[in-house]
Amino acid sequence: MIPFDCHIHTSYSSDAECSMEEQFRAAKARGLREIAITDHVDYMYPAEPYPYQIDYGAYGREFRRVAAEFPGVRAAFGAEIGLGPGAEIAAEIARFAQAYPFDFIIGSIHDYYGGELHRDSALWRRDKREAYAEYLDYALRSFRACPAFSVAGHLDYISRYGPYPDPSLRYSEFKAETDAVLRFLIDSGKGLEVNTSGFRYGLGGVYPQPEILSAYKRLGGEILTVGSDAHRSRDVAADFDAAERAVRGAGFDKICVFRRMIPEFILIPF
Ligand SMILES: [Zn+2]
Ligand SMILES: [Zn+2]
Repeated sequence: MIPFDCHIHTSYSSDAECSMEEQFRAAKARGLREIAITDHVDYMYPAEPYPYQIDYGAYGREFRRVAAEFPGVRAAFGAEIGLGPGAEIAAEIARFAQAYPFDFIIGSIHDYYGGELHRDSALWRRDKREAYAEYLDYALRSFRACPAFSVAGHLDYISRYGPYPDPSLRYSEFKAETDAVLRFLIDSGKGLEVNTSGFRYGLGGVYPQPEILSAYKRLGGEILTVGSDAHRSRDVAADFDAAERAVRGAGFDKICVFRRMIPEFILIPF
């Protein structure tokens, strides 16, 4: 099993209830060697009060306190930031990323111009072909606008919410658009995340799906992290055996963890 979980939420995320201590304890119980605590920050949602902005000073202090109690679990101080293509948001994210000593930042697309994808999105008024192509282009423009991230989180997140008979973002159907995003990540030194919450959200596997992982590898991608996206302790490192099979199946012989925003490569088997 992969002993590195690089995507864990705590009660500092408004959609998670477990304490940082509980997440470290779960990681230790599962024999993990390293974790990254990556609570949400999203500047995009227009509603006040912003549900995904947290006191990062307190977050850092709590992180250091709890990490010191679990010396056997190496821990990265991270965040999962919701990205968008607007200049104002990009400046805010750049300031935020600079303000704290992050080891690792997941850049995720959770919304489309302020509309959360898991609710009603303007995208859903289009047919699937148009909506998914636009989503990928929006992701590309967001990654380009906000370079302060380490890896792209759950790249085919849209597969979870598209209101179509088959919501899966299939690589074969969106090859050119997906390749453009992957090429940008590779050329700009950014990585890709393998997220195992796809198993828990009914996607039947990791996401991005294996075809996208293979394409990333084929195009020259090397920086790959693996995360459970656990919002509960029982999900820490969930389905990590399957993640290892997916990573190996896509041709990777190493994965990464991050320290001070720099990838460290770890050879498989662990
Ligand atoms: Zn996310
Ligand atoms: Zn997450």
